[in-house]
Amino acid sequence: MADGVTFDLGEPQRAVARKAAGRGLCPECFGRVLGRWGHGLSNPERAARLAAELDVTATADPVGCPVCGGLFAKVDLWADRAVRAANGYEYRRFTCGSRWDPERLAVEEALWGDVGSGWGESARAAFNRELGKKVEVRTGAQGGSEGADVVFLADLPVGRVELTVNSLYIRGRYRKLDRTIPQTHWPCRRCGGRGCVHCAGSGRTYPTSVEELIGAPFVVASAATGTRFHGMGREDIDARMLGRGRPFVLELVRPKVRSLDLVGLAASLGPAAAGKVELLEPGWADGSEVVQIKEAAPEKSYRVGVVGAVPLGKVKEALQLVSGRTIAQRTPARVAHRRSDRVRARRIVDARLVDEAEGRFTLELRTEAGTYVKEWVEGDAGRTEPSLASLVGAPLKVDYLDVLEVHDTEAT
Ligand SMILES: [Zn+2]
Ligand SMILES: [Zn+2]
Repeated sequence: MADGVTFDLGEPQRAVARKAAGRGLCPECFGRVLGRWGHGLSNPERAARLAAELDVTATADPVGCPVCGGLFAKVDLWADRAVRAANGYEYRRFTCGSRWDPERLAVEEALWGDVGSGWGESARAAFNRELGKKVEVRTGAQGGSEGADVVFLADLPVGRVELTVNSLYIRGRYRKLDRTIPQTHWPCRRCGGRGCVHCAGSGRTYPTSVEELIGAPFVVASAATGTRFHGMGREDIDARMLGRGRPFVLELVRPKVRSLDLVGLAASLGPAAAGKVELLEPGWADGSEVVQIKEAAPEKSYRVGVVGAVPLGKVKEALQLVSGRTIAQRTPARVAHRRSDRVRARRIVDARLVDEAEGRFTLELRTEAGTYVKEWVEGDAGRTEPSLASLVGAPLKVDYLDVLEVHDTEAT
């Protein structure tokens, strides 16, 4: 007996094998009737052992096999189809799946019942595994269920392999130094991106975005078909994003090239991004980080320029009063069309006056995630209570707003 092989048949397994013999099964399908009994043997090897021990044989002509119809004799052909489907795509890890005619799988289920086997291995699992082995040999890539770059789906009735190319994920932090750029690409609302009179044929609401400025060199280098940009929240278009920048994950859709020089690419954002957007700390991410980044709710620090004719003593007093306190914010009028209208409790962690001039002053504040800072300063017609305007008893107007820091890590 070879090392690591166990296949000691008891009377129940012998009975199963005798019943399964003579049903025209191919060696692969015959061996698989006891596929989960013992270990260390391929299914055809199991069939050979059964033949030697019990004088029962599999059919010599696999095409007539009632379970697979000769499929397991054609795994090489399917491996060729898979490799061809992924031609031009770089991949190191892959997963194999298959779509079966349900009637074939039902034949197999019925067979196990007829012969009384509780040790059968499903044809689908066996086929996926055998296909994976062949693809490994042809490509040097590694098969398995974890972290696949591509997924092969063998559509058996149709005779074709469908290829799914998984996205590539890159994390980083961005700084935005310009007050005219949205975080993500906004297709024109009128035409949905096709181009119309309203958008002068461009299909867009804004000329560019953080997503596009950062994504451009990565799309070119990876030959991806597009991007999705997942930011840890977003700032208003007219707000700058300073400090260490805002964490994000850039998703490259259907990339052909996966070996990218991230640092080199980050340094090559180019003239289009110069003075507008910077990419810091680029690194590899995986899909699960998209969820983490979407669920994160870090505190943020802001600098706010405010216009208003108010005695500064009153402003200081109000800021002291509100620091460390919770405010009530009803969904701002400006976002009510896309967020449910309700009142949210938000904490102003800290607020202080840092600069002052005639008729204007500058605040720095740190707030709980989800605080609408502009509305907290101006009051939003009473929808935020208390607001800074209500506390000082005078109308205030936000002149500009910068995000100074996203406190997602305890470094700050
Ligand atoms: Zn078969
Ligand atoms: Zn348009």
